[in-house]
Amino acid sequence: MYSVAEGVRVMLGSNLLLDFDWVKVVWNKYVPSKMAIFHWLSIHGGVPVKEVLRYRHCLRDGMDDKCSKCTVSVESIQHLLLHCPWAFKVWLALFEWWNVSWVMPFDISPFSLECYNGLGVKAKKAWRLIGPAVYWFIWLARNDLVFNGVSKCWTVIVDSVKLKVFQWLVNARKTESLQFYIWKSQPWDVI
Ligand SMILES: [Zn+2]
Repeated sequence: MYSVAEGVRVMLGSNLLLDFDWVKVVWNKYVPSKMAIFHWLSIHGGVPVKEVLRYRHCLRDGMDDKCSKCTVSVESIQHLLLHCPWAFKVWLALFEWWNVSWVMPFDISPFSLECYNGLGVKAKKAWRLIGPAVYWFIWLARNDLVFNGVSKCWTVIVDSVKLKVFQWLVNARKTESLQFYIWKSQPWDVI
């Protein structure tokens, strides 16, 4: 039976975004609201990367739409946060940290869902925090490069994410007994 809702689904080519329970996925009481809002904007295509600025005719004259990190690909949200070689090194290091092999999907939405589900390593509590933390720190590093000319090594992002998520987990348990050195080497022992 045809329905308007089904028609919209077919036109969009995917029902993933329509079914995406972003309230549950994005809003986490341990993630600061500014990071959660950035996560939400990333999923909904609202981050002002160069591709979005060009689409809105907001790129300054003479400014190209290439990624500031790799200078090769168009700076789309997916490229900047997931697929840029610089960003992918961050993700790869975090996957290795958890002994995870993962094929990165093209889009943010399915990947956010995969993080929400713990990347199959029974670590939902951690990966629900790691995903938004990575998005946020990559965005800060991108802005540092674009506006201040400061280029950060990807390892700085990895270290920042590990520290920030550890602090959130400590706050969640309301205890100081968690050891950071264990978290850095065997994170599953902390969860
Ligand atoms: Zn790039």
